[in-house]
Amino acid sequence: MKKWQAALSAATLSAALGGTLLSLTLSSEVSMRATLSQILIFVALAGFVASVALRPAGDRAAAVSRERSAVGEAEKHACDFSSVAANDQALQSLSELRDYLADPEKYARYGARMPRGVLLYGPPGTGKTLLARALAGEAGVPFFALAGSDFVEKYVGVGASRVRELFKKARKAGKCVIFIDEIDALGKRRDDMASDERDQTLNALLSEMSGFHTGDGVIVVAATNRIETLDPALLRPGRFDRQIEVPLPGKAERLSILRLHGANKPLSEDADLEALAEQTVGFSGASLENLMNEAALLAAASGEAAITGDDLNRAYLKLVAGADRPSAADERERRIIAIHEAGHALVSRCLTPENRLARVSILPAGHGAAGYNLTVPKERVMVGRDHLERQICVLLAGRAAEQAVFGEENLTAGASSDIARATEIAAGMVSELGMAGEPAVSLAALNRALGGVTGAAEQARALLSELYGRTLVLVESEIDALSALADALLESEALEGSAAEAILEAALSSERPESA
Ligand code: ADP
Ligand code: ZN
Repeated sequence: MKKWQAALSAATLSAALGGTLLSLTLSSEVSMRATLSQILIFVALAGFVASVALRPAGDRAAAVSRERSAVGEAEKHACDFSSVAANDQALQSLSELRDYLADPEKYARYGARMPRGVLLYGPPGTGKTLLARALAGEAGVPFFALAGSDFVEKYVGVGASRVRELFKKARKAGKCVIFIDEIDALGKRRDDMASDERDQTLNALLSEMSGFHTGDGVIVVAATNRIETLDPALLRPGRFDRQIEVPLPGKAERLSILRLHGANKPLSEDADLEALAEQTVGFSGASLENLMNEAALLAAASGEAAITGDDLNRAYLKLVAGADRPSAADERERRIIAIHEAGHALVSRCLTPENRLARVSILPAGHGAAGYNLTVPKERVMVGRDHLERQICVLLAGRAAEQAVFGEENLTAGASSDIARATEIAAGMVSELGMAGEPAVSLAALNRALGGVTGAAEQARALLSELYGRTLVLVESEIDALSALADALLESEALEGSAAEAILEAALSSERPESA
């Protein structure tokens, strides 16, 4: 595969489930093989930038916890509840625990049983570590942290002895918060890949936890991105029996997180955090923090008095799509990329007009993208069949545009990841959601119950080929609009969404086969 092909394939994952995906990470992390609730959450909120913007932040968080674990000593608390914006529910739950940590004996006198373990669960970067640390800070007690993966070693028994060591240190400290990040690494369901080492480690953790009494003032906080993979033994009463969801922030929460991280920075009049909150659907708190920091770096580099709206915008694009780079593609390749991208934009405009097109580019950006469509999805709580079908059409539109313009014999590898995403969604609709052919059958559940159930692949294929057919018809009937946008892209390389929409609008035929 030529370099540009690889690049193109990573590009324009327009609107996989809820918006533009410019990298492949999210799709592999949360695929349609995930549970229904995950799908819904993912579709509703995470579709978008999460993949791109999250990764650096997530990586960083992981690195930090690893650093900590190497030391394994109590941390000085540098934050409290005021360091956390949004997450009101989690804060409320934790403030009870803070009161308990302040005076555990009181609770013991009343015979109250405090939860020994609190499980924070939600997508990466939503502030779970921050919350645990803030709890310790608020209560003024030491904070011990380790990551689950630090416990799981090659040699049987090492993990278990690390657990005991950690708790021994914590016990010496008296009242404290013990934080275990990525608890799924050691608390995975035991049925799959049972490992002695993990079992021993988990058992050590459970027995250490049951050794505490209410009067001790020790709280174990664990965090996971994948609660559904946890061993049920962890969730039983007396263990991690208080579970607090830490979801991705909605628009109002994003605004308060942006404000919190903007508070220590000089912002100019035109730095519109509200607009930024609007266009950061799917961002986690960590991504938002990263965004504000990126904008500050840009402003500092250019020596401005304050962070401007333009800095925010550039930082946003840089995080979501990566910085523009000069293109190495030749003329023919540029034209293919332009047609491909214009195809996504056209079909997105026609079938999912509720999503706002933010930018279309045929310049190579980060993550190996040769070009991209950046769409800000509408935030939604529920996702319907029609919506998923339209998303599939938008994903397939790059390939359909290539076929419509260059013919079936000239297809490129550029659409490979679009197609993979579309196929995953279709497979999920068929097997999990009962949304193809048989509206009330989950083939996956049927298969779990009875085994040997077939037919899912055929149904998914039929669905995909029908949707591809529809997309191709749409693209062919709007070939003028497609060409107009592709020409504009070849001319200026990147277009603001509003400019691209205006070009499409002017060239679209009035009778569209499908109007949304
Ligand atoms: P998680 O543990 O859920 O992966 P972290 O707690 O490591 O996420 O979050 C990383 C950083 O992101 C925090 O240190 C903070 O700067 C920022 N952040 C995340 N959520 C919030 C929030 N609700 N309010 C303020 N900052 C947040
Ligand atoms: Zn594409």
